[in-house]
Amino acid sequence: MALSAHQRYAEIMFDVEKLVEDHRNPKAPYTSNLKLLVPPVGNFFTTLPLKNAFLWQDRKRHISSRRFVAPSFNDVRLILNTAQIMSLVDEGGVELMTFDGDVTLYDDGQSLTDENPVIPRILELMRGGCRIGIVTAAGYTEAAKYYGRLHGLLEAIAASDLSADQKKNIIVMGGESNFLFVYDETCKERLKYIRRREWILEEMQSWTEENIQSLLDLAEKALRDCISSMSLDADILRKERAVGIIPRQGRKLSREQLEETVLVCQRVLEVSQEATKIPFCAFNGGSDVFIDIGDKSWGVLACQRFFGGNDKKNDIKGAKTLHVGDQFLSVGANDFKARQACTTAWIASPAETVALLDEMFELKDLKVHHHWDKLEDIR
Ligand code: IMP
Ligand code: MG
Repeated sequence: MALSAHQRYAEIMFDVEKLVEDHRNPKAPYTSNLKLLVPPVGNFFTTLPLKNAFLWQDRKRHISSRRFVAPSFNDVRLILNTAQIMSLVDEGGVELMTFDGDVTLYDDGQSLTDENPVIPRILELMRGGCRIGIVTAAGYTEAAKYYGRLHGLLEAIAASDLSADQKKNIIVMGGESNFLFVYDETCKERLKYIRRREWILEEMQSWTEENIQSLLDLAEKALRDCISSMSLDADILRKERAVGIIPRQGRKLSREQLEETVLVCQRVLEVSQEATKIPFCAFNGGSDVFIDIGDKSWGVLACQRFFGGNDKKNDIKGAKTLHVGDQFLSVGANDFKARQACTTAWIASPAETVALLDEMFELKDLKVHHHWDKLEDIR
Protein backbone atom coordinates (compact mmCIF):
# COMPACT_ATOMS: atom_id res chain seq x y z
CA MET A 1 0.00 0.00 0.00
CA ALA A 2 2.77 2.38 0.92
CA LEU A 3 4.47 1.72 -2.39
CA SER A 4 1.37 2.37 -4.45
CA ALA A 5 0.59 5.55 -2.46
CA HIS A 6 4.18 6.62 -2.99
CA GLN A 7 3.95 6.13 -6.75
CA ARG A 8 0.55 7.80 -6.96
CA TYR A 9 1.64 10.87 -4.96
CA ALA A 10 4.80 11.16 -7.05
CA GLU A 11 2.69 11.11 -10.23
CA ILE A 12 0.38 13.80 -8.88
CA MET A 13 3.31 16.00 -7.94
CA PHE A 14 4.76 15.49 -11.39
CA ASP A 15 1.43 16.54 -12.94
CA VAL A 16 1.43 19.75 -10.87
CA GLU A 17 5.06 20.30 -11.82
CA LYS A 18 4.04 20.18 -15.48
CA LEU A 19 1.15 22.59 -14.83
CA VAL A 20 3.61 25.08 -13.33
CA GLU A 21 5.98 24.58 -16.25
CA ASP A 22 3.17 25.24 -18.72
CA HIS A 23 2.18 28.38 -16.77
CA ARG A 24 5.73 29.68 -16.93
CA ASN A 25 5.77 29.32 -20.68
CA PRO A 26 5.73 32.96 -21.85
CA LYS A 27 3.85 32.06 -25.04
CA ALA A 28 0.66 31.36 -23.17
CA PRO A 29 0.64 33.03 -19.76
CA TYR A 30 -3.03 33.97 -19.74
CA THR A 31 -4.49 30.74 -20.89
CA SER A 32 -2.44 28.36 -18.80
CA ASN A 33 -4.43 25.54 -17.25
CA LEU A 34 -3.04 26.49 -13.87
CA LYS A 35 -4.43 30.00 -14.24
CA LEU A 36 -7.84 28.54 -15.10
CA LEU A 37 -7.75 26.27 -12.07
CA VAL A 38 -6.31 28.89 -9.71
CA PRO A 39 -7.17 32.35 -11.07
CA PRO A 40 -5.13 34.39 -8.56
CA VAL A 41 -1.96 32.36 -9.14
CA GLY A 42 1.13 34.58 -9.46
CA ASN A 43 4.32 34.27 -11.47
CA PHE A 44 6.90 31.62 -10.84
CA PHE A 45 10.47 32.86 -10.89
CA THR A 46 11.86 29.35 -11.32
CA THR A 47 10.77 25.84 -12.23
CA LEU A 48 9.58 23.70 -9.32
CA PRO A 49 10.79 20.10 -9.37
CA LEU A 50 7.84 18.91 -7.31
CA LYS A 51 8.27 15.22 -7.99
CA ASN A 52 11.86 15.17 -6.78
CA ALA A 53 10.89 17.36 -3.84
CA PHE A 54 8.16 14.88 -2.94
CA LEU A 55 10.60 11.96 -3.13
CA TRP A 56 12.94 13.88 -0.84
CA GLN A 57 10.28 14.77 1.71
CA ASP A 58 8.71 11.33 1.60
CA ARG A 59 12.04 9.87 2.66
CA LYS A 60 12.09 12.27 5.60
CA ARG A 61 8.43 12.39 6.63
CA HIS A 62 7.20 8.99 5.37
CA ILE A 63 4.08 10.61 4.03
CA SER A 64 3.05 7.66 1.90
CA SER A 65 3.46 5.22 4.80
CA ARG A 66 0.52 6.82 6.59
CA ARG A 67 -2.72 4.89 6.21
CA PHE A 68 -5.26 7.24 7.79
CA VAL A 69 -3.87 10.73 7.57
CA ALA A 70 -3.77 12.12 4.03
CA PRO A 71 -0.98 14.41 2.84
CA SER A 72 -1.54 17.55 4.86
CA PHE A 73 -1.16 21.27 4.38
CA ASN A 74 2.19 21.09 6.16
CA ASP A 75 3.40 18.22 3.96
CA VAL A 76 2.58 20.26 0.87
CA ARG A 77 4.14 23.42 2.30
CA LEU A 78 7.40 21.58 3.00
CA ILE A 79 7.41 19.89 -0.41
CA LEU A 80 7.03 23.30 -2.05
CA ASN A 81 9.90 24.69 0.02
CA THR A 82 12.12 21.77 -0.96
CA ALA A 83 11.16 22.15 -4.63
CA GLN A 84 12.04 25.85 -4.50
CA ILE A 85 15.41 25.16 -2.94
CA MET A 86 16.19 22.31 -5.35
CA SER A 87 15.50 24.61 -8.25
CA LEU A 88 17.63 27.45 -6.85
CA VAL A 89 20.51 25.10 -6.11
CA ASP A 90 20.18 23.55 -9.55
CA GLU A 91 20.44 26.97 -11.18
CA GLY A 92 23.67 27.80 -9.37
CA GLY A 93 22.46 28.94 -5.95
CA VAL A 94 21.02 32.09 -4.42
CA GLU A 95 22.75 35.46 -4.51
CA LEU A 96 20.52 37.11 -1.91
CA MET A 97 18.62 35.61 0.98
CA THR A 98 16.17 37.76 2.88
CA PHE A 99 14.78 36.70 6.21
CA ASP A 100 11.78 37.88 8.16
CA GLY A 101 12.49 38.45 11.88
CA ASP A 102 9.80 37.30 14.34
CA VAL A 103 8.97 33.57 14.10
CA THR A 104 11.50 33.11 11.26
CA LEU A 105 14.81 33.90 12.98
CA TYR A 106 13.62 34.00 16.61
CA ASP A 107 10.42 33.37 18.53
CA ASP A 108 7.64 35.96 18.32
CA GLY A 109 8.63 39.14 20.17
CA GLN A 110 12.03 37.70 21.18
CA SER A 111 15.57 38.49 20.03
CA LEU A 112 18.31 36.76 18.09
CA THR A 113 20.59 35.77 20.96
CA ASP A 114 24.07 34.31 20.64
CA GLU A 115 23.15 30.64 21.09
CA ASN A 116 20.63 30.71 18.21
CA PRO A 117 21.53 27.84 15.82
CA VAL A 118 20.67 29.97 12.77
CA ILE A 119 23.82 32.06 13.36
CA PRO A 120 26.45 29.56 12.11
CA ARG A 121 24.21 28.85 9.09
CA ILE A 122 23.96 32.53 8.14
CA LEU A 123 27.73 32.86 8.55
CA GLU A 124 28.15 29.86 6.23
CA LEU A 125 25.95 31.53 3.60
CA MET A 126 27.98 34.73 3.88
CA ARG A 127 31.22 32.79 3.62
CA GLY A 128 29.94 31.50 0.28
CA GLY A 129 29.35 35.08 -0.92
CA CYS A 130 25.57 35.15 -0.42
CA ARG A 131 24.08 38.51 0.51
CA ILE A 132 21.75 38.67 3.49
CA GLY A 133 18.84 41.03 4.14
CA ILE A 134 16.76 40.97 7.28
CA VAL A 135 13.43 42.30 6.06
CA THR A 136 11.25 42.81 9.09
CA ALA A 137 8.08 44.72 9.86
CA ALA A 138 9.62 45.88 13.13
CA GLY A 139 10.02 49.57 12.42
CA TYR A 140 12.58 51.51 14.44
CA THR A 141 14.56 54.57 13.48
CA GLU A 142 17.47 53.85 15.82
CA ALA A 143 20.22 51.29 15.20
CA ALA A 144 20.25 50.49 18.93
CA LYS A 145 16.75 48.97 18.72
CA TYR A 146 17.79 46.60 15.94
CA TYR A 147 20.97 45.79 17.83
CA GLY A 148 18.71 44.83 20.75
CA ARG A 149 16.80 42.39 18.52
CA LEU A 150 19.73 41.03 16.48
CA HIS A 151 22.80 41.35 18.70
CA GLY A 152 23.64 37.61 18.72
CA LEU A 153 24.07 37.56 14.96
CA LEU A 154 25.76 40.97 14.70
CA GLU A 155 28.37 40.12 17.34
CA ALA A 156 28.99 36.68 15.81
CA ILE A 157 29.73 38.37 12.47
CA ALA A 158 32.11 40.81 14.18
CA ALA A 159 33.97 37.93 15.85
CA SER A 160 33.98 35.70 12.77
CA ASP A 161 36.71 34.93 10.23
CA LEU A 162 34.70 36.60 7.43
CA SER A 163 36.63 39.11 5.33
CA ALA A 164 35.78 42.79 5.62
CA ASP A 165 34.01 42.59 2.25
CA GLN A 166 31.96 39.56 3.24
CA LYS A 167 30.90 41.28 6.44
CA LYS A 168 29.42 44.14 4.44
CA ASN A 169 27.01 41.68 2.84
CA ILE A 170 24.33 41.95 5.49
CA ILE A 171 21.73 44.68 5.77
CA VAL A 172 18.59 45.24 7.81
CA MET A 173 15.43 46.61 6.19
CA GLY A 174 13.03 47.68 8.93
CA GLY A 175 9.38 48.72 8.81
CA GLU A 176 8.84 46.48 5.73
CA SER A 177 10.60 48.90 3.33
CA ASN A 178 11.24 52.05 5.35
CA PHE A 179 14.49 52.03 7.34
CA LEU A 180 17.76 50.70 5.93
CA PHE A 181 20.81 49.84 8.03
CA VAL A 182 24.07 48.30 6.81
CA TYR A 183 26.53 46.29 8.85
CA ASP A 184 29.34 48.49 10.13
CA GLU A 185 31.79 47.08 12.62
CA THR A 186 33.01 50.50 13.70
CA CYS A 187 29.61 51.41 15.16
CA LYS A 188 28.74 50.38 18.70
CA GLU A 189 25.47 48.89 17.42
CA ARG A 190 27.27 47.28 14.43
CA LEU A 191 24.71 48.95 12.15
CA LYS A 192 24.77 52.22 10.29
CA TYR A 193 21.63 54.03 9.17
CA ILE A 194 21.49 54.86 5.47
CA ARG A 195 19.48 57.92 4.51
CA ARG A 196 16.51 57.24 2.29
CA ARG A 197 17.68 59.44 -0.55
CA GLU A 198 20.66 57.09 -0.92
CA TRP A 199 18.71 53.91 -1.53
CA ILE A 200 15.01 54.34 -2.36
CA LEU A 201 13.67 53.15 -5.70
CA GLU A 202 12.38 55.70 -8.23
CA GLU A 203 8.80 54.64 -7.57
CA MET A 204 9.22 55.46 -3.88
CA GLN A 205 10.28 59.02 -4.57
CA SER A 206 6.69 60.07 -5.08
CA TRP A 207 5.69 58.91 -1.58
CA THR A 208 5.50 62.39 -0.06
CA GLU A 209 5.45 62.91 3.68
CA GLU A 210 2.06 64.59 3.41
CA ASN A 211 0.46 61.64 1.59
CA ILE A 212 2.07 59.16 3.96
CA GLN A 213 0.71 60.96 7.01
CA SER A 214 -2.79 61.26 5.58
CA LEU A 215 -2.85 57.51 4.87
CA LEU A 216 -1.69 56.84 8.43
CA ASP A 217 -4.35 59.24 9.77
CA LEU A 218 -7.03 57.30 7.97
CA ALA A 219 -5.60 53.97 9.19
CA GLU A 220 -5.47 55.29 12.74
CA LYS A 221 -9.10 56.30 12.54
CA ALA A 222 -10.07 52.83 11.28
CA LEU A 223 -8.14 51.26 14.15
CA ARG A 224 -9.85 53.53 16.69
CA ASP A 225 -13.23 52.54 15.26
CA CYS A 226 -12.31 48.84 15.71
CA ILE A 227 -11.21 49.45 19.30
CA SER A 228 -14.51 51.09 20.07
CA SER A 229 -16.83 48.77 18.10
CA MET A 230 -15.28 45.55 19.47
CA SER A 231 -14.32 47.03 22.86
CA LEU A 232 -10.73 45.96 22.36
CA ASP A 233 -8.38 46.17 25.31
CA ALA A 234 -5.73 47.77 23.15
CA ASP A 235 -3.78 50.97 22.64
CA ILE A 236 -2.87 52.75 19.45
CA LEU A 237 0.82 53.01 18.60
CA ARG A 238 1.58 55.65 16.00
CA LYS A 239 5.04 55.67 14.45
CA GLU A 240 6.85 57.60 11.74
CA ARG A 241 5.88 55.07 9.05
CA ALA A 242 3.29 52.85 10.70
CA VAL A 243 0.31 52.74 12.99
CA GLY A 244 -0.84 49.76 15.01
CA ILE A 245 -2.76 48.45 17.97
CA ILE A 246 -1.10 46.56 20.77
CA PRO A 247 -2.93 44.81 23.63
CA ARG A 248 -2.82 46.51 27.02
CA GLN A 249 -0.43 45.09 29.61
CA GLY A 250 -1.48 41.56 30.57
CA ARG A 251 -4.28 41.36 27.97
CA LYS A 252 -4.50 39.41 24.72
CA LEU A 253 -6.48 39.99 21.56
CA SER A 254 -8.19 36.96 20.02
CA ARG A 255 -7.39 35.76 16.53
CA GLU A 256 -10.87 36.80 15.42
CA GLN A 257 -10.43 40.31 16.77
CA LEU A 258 -7.04 40.64 15.10
CA GLU A 259 -8.32 39.40 11.75
CA GLU A 260 -11.45 41.54 11.84
CA THR A 261 -9.29 44.59 12.56
CA VAL A 262 -6.99 43.77 9.62
CA LEU A 263 -9.91 43.28 7.25
CA VAL A 264 -11.68 46.46 8.35
CA CYS A 265 -8.53 48.54 7.91
CA GLN A 266 -7.74 46.92 4.60
CA ARG A 267 -11.22 47.66 3.29
CA VAL A 268 -11.29 51.26 4.54
CA LEU A 269 -7.88 52.00 3.04
CA GLU A 270 -8.35 50.10 -0.22
CA VAL A 271 -11.24 52.28 -1.35
CA SER A 272 -9.59 55.54 -0.22
CA GLN A 273 -7.96 58.27 -2.29
CA GLU A 274 -4.91 58.06 -0.01
CA ALA A 275 -4.15 54.47 -1.02
CA THR A 276 -3.99 55.39 -4.70
CA LYS A 277 -0.81 57.30 -3.93
CA ILE A 278 0.88 55.20 -1.26
CA PRO A 279 1.15 51.39 -0.99
CA PHE A 280 0.50 49.96 2.44
CA CYS A 281 0.44 46.64 4.25
CA ALA A 282 -2.12 45.81 6.95
CA PHE A 283 -1.28 42.64 8.81
CA ASN A 284 -1.94 40.48 11.82
CA GLY A 285 1.32 40.11 13.75
CA GLY A 286 -0.02 37.32 15.97
CA SER A 287 -0.71 39.53 18.98
CA ASP A 288 -0.98 42.95 17.34
CA VAL A 289 -2.12 44.58 14.12
CA PHE A 290 -0.04 47.05 12.13
CA ILE A 291 -0.54 49.13 9.05
CA ASP A 292 2.83 49.90 7.53
CA ILE A 293 3.77 52.17 4.67
CA GLY A 294 5.06 50.06 1.78
CA ASP A 295 5.40 46.31 2.10
CA LYS A 296 7.97 43.51 1.87
CA SER A 297 7.92 43.42 -1.93
CA TRP A 298 9.35 46.94 -1.83
CA GLY A 299 11.67 45.90 0.98
CA VAL A 300 13.09 42.98 -1.01
CA LEU A 301 13.32 45.05 -4.22
CA ALA A 302 15.27 47.71 -2.33
CA CYS A 303 17.70 45.03 -1.03
CA GLN A 304 18.14 43.71 -4.59
CA ARG A 305 18.87 47.26 -5.78
CA PHE A 306 21.19 48.09 -2.87
CA PHE A 307 23.35 45.01 -3.39
CA GLY A 308 23.41 45.74 -7.12
CA GLY A 309 25.20 49.01 -6.30
CA ASN A 310 22.00 51.10 -6.63
CA ASP A 311 22.09 50.59 -10.36
CA LYS A 312 18.88 49.19 -11.81
CA LYS A 313 20.61 47.08 -14.42
CA ASN A 314 22.64 45.30 -11.73
CA ASP A 315 19.67 44.43 -9.49
CA ILE A 316 19.87 40.95 -8.03
CA LYS A 317 17.18 38.99 -9.87
CA GLY A 318 14.02 37.57 -8.29
CA ALA A 319 15.10 34.13 -9.50
CA LYS A 320 18.35 34.53 -7.52
CA THR A 321 16.67 35.77 -4.35
CA LEU A 322 14.95 33.70 -1.67
CA HIS A 323 12.79 35.27 1.03
CA VAL A 324 12.10 33.12 4.11
CA GLY A 325 9.13 34.04 6.28
CA ASP A 326 6.22 32.74 8.33
CA GLN A 327 3.37 34.97 7.14
CA PHE A 328 1.96 33.75 3.85
CA LEU A 329 -1.73 33.24 4.51
CA SER A 330 -3.49 35.73 2.30
CA VAL A 331 -5.48 37.49 5.05
CA GLY A 332 -3.15 40.16 6.37
CA ALA A 333 0.17 38.36 6.02
CA ASN A 334 3.17 40.56 5.36
CA ASP A 335 5.67 38.03 3.97
CA PHE A 336 3.20 37.12 1.22
CA LYS A 337 4.01 40.42 -0.50
CA ALA A 338 7.64 39.37 -0.95
CA ARG A 339 6.37 36.74 -3.37
CA GLN A 340 6.00 39.52 -5.96
CA ALA A 341 9.72 40.28 -5.82
CA CYS A 342 11.40 36.90 -5.48
CA THR A 343 11.13 33.22 -4.69
CA THR A 344 9.94 32.36 -1.18
CA ALA A 345 10.00 29.65 1.46
CA TRP A 346 7.23 29.42 4.04
CA ILE A 347 8.39 28.25 7.43
CA ALA A 348 6.41 27.83 10.65
CA SER A 349 9.12 28.26 13.31
CA PRO A 350 12.76 29.30 13.74
CA ALA A 351 13.65 25.58 13.90
CA GLU A 352 12.19 25.12 10.42
CA THR A 353 14.37 27.97 9.12
CA VAL A 354 17.43 26.13 10.43
CA ALA A 355 16.20 22.89 8.84
CA LEU A 356 15.61 24.70 5.54
CA LEU A 357 19.16 26.05 5.47
CA ASP A 358 20.57 22.63 6.33
CA GLU A 359 18.54 21.14 3.51
CA MET A 360 19.96 23.75 1.16
CA PHE A 361 23.55 22.89 2.17
CA GLU A 362 22.78 19.19 1.86
CA LEU A 363 21.26 19.57 -1.61
CA LYS A 364 24.17 21.70 -2.73
CA ASP A 365 26.49 18.95 -1.62
CA LEU A 366 24.44 16.28 -3.37
CA LYS A 367 24.38 18.29 -6.56
CA VAL A 368 28.12 18.69 -6.44
CA HIS A 369 28.32 14.90 -6.25
CA HIS A 370 25.78 14.43 -9.10
CA HIS A 371 23.35 12.35 -7.12
CA TRP A 372 20.25 14.29 -6.55
CA ASP A 373 18.45 13.59 -9.80
CA LYS A 374 18.56 9.93 -8.81
CA LEU A 375 16.40 10.33 -5.74
CA GLU A 376 14.21 7.39 -6.69
CA ASP A 377 17.29 5.13 -6.55
CA ILE A 378 18.47 6.63 -3.28
CA ARG A 379 15.13 5.72 -1.74
P1 IMP B 1 8.37 40.51 11.46
O1 IMP B 1 7.83 39.14 11.72
O2 IMP B 1 9.85 40.57 11.62
O3 IMP B 1 7.91 41.07 10.14
O4 IMP B 1 7.83 41.49 12.64
C1 IMP B 1 6.47 41.66 12.90
C2 IMP B 1 6.27 42.21 14.29
O5 IMP B 1 7.04 43.38 14.51
C3 IMP B 1 4.85 42.68 14.51
O6 IMP B 1 4.01 41.64 14.89
C4 IMP B 1 5.00 43.69 15.64
O7 IMP B 1 4.87 43.06 16.89
C5 IMP B 1 6.43 44.19 15.52
N1 IMP B 1 6.53 45.61 15.14
C6 IMP B 1 7.23 46.54 15.82
N2 IMP B 1 7.18 47.72 15.19
C7 IMP B 1 6.41 47.56 14.11
C8 IMP B 1 6.01 48.45 13.06
O8 IMP B 1 6.33 49.64 13.00
N3 IMP B 1 5.22 47.90 12.09
C9 IMP B 1 4.87 46.60 12.11
N4 IMP B 1 5.23 45.75 13.06
C10 IMP B 1 6.00 46.22 14.07
MG1 MG C 1 7.33 37.01 11.11
